[in-house]
Amino acid sequence: MDNLPKDLPADLPEDSPKNTHQSLDPEDWSAFRQQSHRMLDDMLDFVEHLRERPVWQPIPQEARAKFQVALPQQPQTLANAHQTFMNDILPYGPGNSHPGFMGWVQGGGSPVGMLAEMLAAGLNANTGGRDQMPLEVERQIVRWMRELFAFPDSASGVFVTGTSMANLMAVLVARTVALGKNVRQHGVREAAHQLTAYTSIEAHGCVAQAMDLAGFGTAALRRIPSNDLFQMDTAALSAAIAADRAAGLQPFFIAGTAGSVDVGAIDPLNEIADIAAREACWFHIDGAFGALGMMSPKIAPLLHGIQRADSIAFDFHKWGQVQYDAGFLLVRDSTQHTDAFAAPVAYLRREARGLAGGSPWPCDFGPDLSRGFRALKTWFTIQVYGTEKLGKVISQTCDLAQYLVQQIALHSCLELLAPVALNVVCFRYRDPTIAPANQLNLDDLNRDIVTDLHESGLAVPSTTTIRGQLAIRAAIVNHRTDRSAIDVMLSAVLKLGQERYSAAIYCSK
Ligand SMILES: *Cc1c(COP(=O)(O)O)cnc(C)c1O
Repeated sequence: MDNLPKDLPADLPEDSPKNTHQSLDPEDWSAFRQQSHRMLDDMLDFVEHLRERPVWQPIPQEARAKFQVALPQQPQTLANAHQTFMNDILPYGPGNSHPGFMGWVQGGGSPVGMLAEMLAAGLNANTGGRDQMPLEVERQIVRWMRELFAFPDSASGVFVTGTSMANLMAVLVARTVALGKNVRQHGVREAAHQLTAYTSIEAHGCVAQAMDLAGFGTAALRRIPSNDLFQMDTAALSAAIAADRAAGLQPFFIAGTAGSVDVGAIDPLNEIADIAAREACWFHIDGAFGALGMMSPKIAPLLHGIQRADSIAFDFHKWGQVQYDAGFLLVRDSTQHTDAFAAPVAYLRREARGLAGGSPWPCDFGPDLSRGFRALKTWFTIQVYGTEKLGKVISQTCDLAQYLVQQIALHSCLELLAPVALNVVCFRYRDPTIAPANQLNLDDLNRDIVTDLHESGLAVPSTTTIRGQLAIRAAIVNHRTDRSAIDVMLSAVLKLGQERYSAAIYCSK
């Protein structure tokens, strides 16, 4: 500051830089500070009193209309915008923080993660690269994940949006390993043999999407049947690989699932690791929610074999309860990882010192350049709660699933549709006293029960199809879900089912 000129000319022209400078910072910081504290208090109130709210409620047309207006040219106050948030956004969220939320596999977030998000936003770090402490925080998470999954020190990891992106990146790493780095110039069409990949029919849709986006096409993905426990049938996997080899194709990628989206099944990871080693295929695990089960001494043994993967995709935002979004890809061999993504460009030159130091950078491990500071909320969550507590939260959701299974067994009009390995329970309502000819259409009935439940605001399970039958699916992921939330959901299902039967508004099939 000392070498800056101290005395500016007194008669500054009207349009001098001093008079026209536009900043987005407040003119009155103390008023802004007061407003900030109100906003923080409102969110703390929201989280503290979540249980008193409906899980979800339909969005009124007036609220939607507030977001269908012309682009504003003139300012309005922050207090006004905040009021709109309180009235028209906050009450109509997706409900996944609420204890009654069991639809889809989603985490509940935590108050600690919420505050960390604010700190990260204040710092506003772009974590694509450069020598900055936020990257050391991300590297700390990489080290912790190596430890959790017993991966070697040479393993690398990177935050991404979610497991959909991480699965795609794993396919791209495996492709580069199978075909060599030249594939990045010439594409897969120059490969001598067509590459084929394998996953179970229970796998999440984003595995097929990854094959699509990577340029192989979904037809190059073999969907291996599952057994009675909804786990990949490894004999069928071996047979499919042998058939493809006999046809002159090149098997290169096997994706096992640790916690399937529909029923929470865990593939026989250790057996798949053997097959992948024998067949020289990349062994990837989609552990979107299940992988973090490693934090629970009760769940970890079920994941045996996960430590043998070449790569693992998972989400801190599901069982890890970190705020959205916080997906992660862990790769055993960091050289193979960077081979798929790193690219030298002049404007991202690395230096031995200065802000352009600290290579390799996260942008060498994936397709994102600009990226936020996802590591901070993850670090705060793990640091403040510790893995023991987070592991207990994880095993608690599995205990609640078993409680739900017991309750289902006590009611003759409820039927369990799939075995429960972890935290996902698929069941349906049907009246067993009614003759088959007079049965209602059970798919329509259960779909309507779930929709009615959503609109009641009492609980939010979702639906899926299990072996051709529509199921009510309760995915218990949220740390806030407790026995009373399960009881509320179940008694509402029973009541709605009975009402629909007495009204008999369904035709028999
Ligand atoms: C949720 C989920 C995904 C997708 O993860 P996103 O974070 O939503 O992209 C993939 N696989 C499984 C098994 C999942 O549960």
